[in-house]
Amino acid sequence: MAKHIFVTGGVVSSLGKGLTCASIGMLLEHRGLRVRLQKFDPYINVDPGTMSPYQHGEVYVLDDGAETDLDLGHYERFTDAPLTRDCNYTTGKIYLSVINKEREGRHYEGRTVQVIPHVTDEIKAAVRRLAGDDVDVVITEIGGTVGDIESLPFLEAIRQFALDVGRANCLYIHLTLVPYLKAAGELKTKPTQHSVGALRQIGIQPDLLICRTEHPISAEDKDKIALFCNVERTAVIEERDKEFSIYEVPISLVNNGLDEILVKRLGLKTNPLDISDWRAMVNRVLHPDTEVTIAVVGKYMKHRDAYKSVFESLDHAGIANRARVVVRRVEAEEVDRRGAAGLLSGVDGILVPGGFGMRGIEGKIEAIRYARTRGIPFFGICLGMQCAAVEFARSVLGFEDANSTEFAQATHHPVISLMEDQSTIRQRGGTMRLGAWPCVLSPSSLARQAYGVDEIRERHRHRYEFNNAYREAFVADGFIPTGLSPDGSLVEIMEIPDHPWFLAVQFHPEFKSKPIKSHPLFRDFIAAALKHREGSRTEVEARPAAG
Ligand code: GLN
Repeated sequence: MAKHIFVTGGVVSSLGKGLTCASIGMLLEHRGLRVRLQKFDPYINVDPGTMSPYQHGEVYVLDDGAETDLDLGHYERFTDAPLTRDCNYTTGKIYLSVINKEREGRHYEGRTVQVIPHVTDEIKAAVRRLAGDDVDVVITEIGGTVGDIESLPFLEAIRQFALDVGRANCLYIHLTLVPYLKAAGELKTKPTQHSVGALRQIGIQPDLLICRTEHPISAEDKDKIALFCNVERTAVIEERDKEFSIYEVPISLVNNGLDEILVKRLGLKTNPLDISDWRAMVNRVLHPDTEVTIAVVGKYMKHRDAYKSVFESLDHAGIANRARVVVRRVEAEEVDRRGAAGLLSGVDGILVPGGFGMRGIEGKIEAIRYARTRGIPFFGICLGMQCAAVEFARSVLGFEDANSTEFAQATHHPVISLMEDQSTIRQRGGTMRLGAWPCVLSPSSLARQAYGVDEIRERHRHRYEFNNAYREAFVADGFIPTGLSPDGSLVEIMEIPDHPWFLAVQFHPEFKSKPIKSHPLFRDFIAAALKHREGSRTEVEARPAAG
């Protein structure tokens, strides 16, 4: 029978609960256990797909097309646990299911439908759904902060869960903040005491506290936390802020004894921990041989998490190339306003990520023109590919008003347009082309070289597509589709062979990259950028000194 770990958060939000859960999963897997991870989000949207990146950050897409919370990205980057739409539930999704059952009229047999037991039963069923015969540990992260009104049904459900499967099969971890008060010159444990107090009031006694802190927690403070929070002294685990890389988190948790106490408390028989591969990777992060600068030109640059997986994937590609990737975040609108040269000069590669809506489009197109005409490695993702097609159509094919019909319905040259099946859709949620789709690669393309196989599967999240009416014109002038759906109808990858490295994809490769195994396209993009950097250096050295 699977064991369960429930992770709650206290004191403040943004403590890195997702990262901590991912780290726990990674450590258990490196002890040979089969792990599943899931997240409960207390908001009412059925999924984050309809939310603005400003509200929510990135929407993380799974193979099965589920649009999920970005913490699932951490889960996938840290572990090999398979993720499906059963791995992310919101209040909205739980209620939708309860209400649908009520409307069907069979399930509740005429009873009054209530939060307890019907909503909590639905939540518990979602936990149980992951606990198959082939699973040793299910890790369930409860979003939000203890004390929020909206997370109460989830907390009540995980309290009840221990009654169903036995307390010994459940472990409650509370992630909390131990702030440092500069004026007093000390760490403060009171917020943690209060937060655990709030949990105990609703019937959950945490077994383990993971304490986020900027400074080391003294033995004395640990004693105090243990006493007031009613946990064992060894169960107070310090998680110090990591300055350089999030991938150091699991190592620091091991150094603080977390994996030992987890397996002991849950009575799990495991292999000894072997994280040598992870340590080697972190070592590469901390000691790169070289550096490369990549401009990411997007629309939500000010929001830290809007392109989370893109930034992570660039880091992974840096690890694979033993280089530190310095990202220059460029607001697309600024490029439109101030011109590309000032903002993009000196970069070794340019990446235009996905996005929605008109704002910033012209700046992205301008940045792509800069990359194309100067031989700077370019990587376009989803909207980035669509903008590359528009740029090429305008500059090379001479279609001056070329555009995507997302931005200009009346354009004479809709090089990007809606497919028939999308044009009739009225409801917004979950209706894009979503999830993993197969793609066949052309021999001798950059993509084929990178992947090393003929057919791939990558994740999508978009409505608009390359318009096949323009395929011949593009090919004739050298912007070539090098990845197609198996029936040939959808353009998934485009390349300009007559350029050092110009590759654009309709899918989202950033959802399939790991620190230990960089995505091949990101890896080769960074390799091309490093080559470009070498080239431009030699050029500078060869240039005669002024005067
Ligand atoms: N807005 C574009 C579309 O819907 C691109 C989407 C994206 O970049 N994810 O097709």
